[in-house]
Amino acid sequence: MSIVVQKFGGTSVADVDCIKRVAKRVKRTLTEGNQVVVVVSARAGVTNQLIERASAILKNPTEREMDVLMTCGEQETIALMTLALHALKVPAVSRTGWQAEIITEGIHTKSRIREVRGGDIRKQLRAGNVVVVAGFQGVSDHGDVTTFGRGGSDLSAIALAGALRAKSCQIFTDVEGVYTADPRIVPNACKMPAINYEEMLELASSGSKVMQTRAVEFAQKHNIPFEVRSTFSNKTGTTVKKKVKSLEDTLVSGVAIDKNQVRLSITELPDRPGAAAAIFKIMSETDVVVDMIVQNVARNGKANLTFTVPTEDAFRAEKALKAHFLDQSAGKLGKSTNIAKVSVVGVGMRSHSGVASKFFEALANAGINMLMISTSEIKISVAVNPDNGDDATRVAHQAFDLGK
Ligand code: ASP
Ligand code: MG
Repeated sequence: MSIVVQKFGGTSVADVDCIKRVAKRVKRTLTEGNQVVVVVSARAGVTNQLIERASAILKNPTEREMDVLMTCGEQETIALMTLALHALKVPAVSRTGWQAEIITEGIHTKSRIREVRGGDIRKQLRAGNVVVVAGFQGVSDHGDVTTFGRGGSDLSAIALAGALRAKSCQIFTDVEGVYTADPRIVPNACKMPAINYEEMLELASSGSKVMQTRAVEFAQKHNIPFEVRSTFSNKTGTTVKKKVKSLEDTLVSGVAIDKNQVRLSITELPDRPGAAAAIFKIMSETDVVVDMIVQNVARNGKANLTFTVPTEDAFRAEKALKAHFLDQSAGKLGKSTNIAKVSVVGVGMRSHSGVASKFFEALANAGINMLMISTSEIKISVAVNPDNGDDATRVAHQAFDLGK
């Protein structure tokens, strides 16, 4: 018998009715002749509520206790889901992250999975049980409960699917799959039947919120294919795997927008080795993820350096930099501004030219000014004024003819 891993996110298990609906779907998968491992998130909103409660008590709660607190959300869902299966006469047992022996390393709230031993999951499956595993959580070598960063239940599902050599891993969510652009912004966006890890990774890290970026990275690294599909319909979703046959002339597969970026600018940066390094060292010590970086050619021994950081890190980044620039010979910190980052992604770019010119020309024709540009092998991103973000997304989608 083959194993199927089915992961249900927060909106899929939001309340008792949702949980009952999911249980029916799990039962169907079981009666189709599979062994089923269910991975669940906390009910929608629960993790945020828990975090708010902690911060109402203490401004900087210790991360170890935050992990103890946040894992409660998933623990509630595994019990309710298991009971919902029992109500349908489906034999089922729940398992926490530590019972599933998901062993982690690294810091609390952002720990990494080192190994999935699985506990007694295989034995329970052979005995005919559905095993309902708490997502987002593992256990450290010290026996402490740990979590994998927000959205981390995706990672639990992928890692379990890999360790159990599952036949398939299905990520159930509130959208029908991965789209060529966010359908709320671009109404004629199309669902992609399949996409490869690389493109999915670039899309996920460029603002498409379908899946946790770390989960996609893990899937790519260990070659664990998965499907993103909707809890609320029976339609097939988007398969994410190593190689996808695509038309030779597909240059761009999708467009992503990230509205949660802040641009920081430094002027009069001395043109000498180590000046920029000092700044990014501060960012890394402050645990800030830097995204786009642009430095111009220096004039009169001074350069301008601009880079973007996630909105939630901006305050911390600025505070740390202000201290550094107290010494004015190090440069001057400018005013930070919100930006939107619009990215076009496609493996076709690797072997074809002309993507940048088409993208930029389309933006120019729409009168949209680009503030920054950055590229990778399969992605071109531009920063634009946040007011232009949606338009820029539509313009790019249209320029590469991605619509229905
Ligand atoms: N409950 C966790 C969160 O809200 C993990 C997840 O939903 O995947 O981030
Ligand atoms: Mg999620």
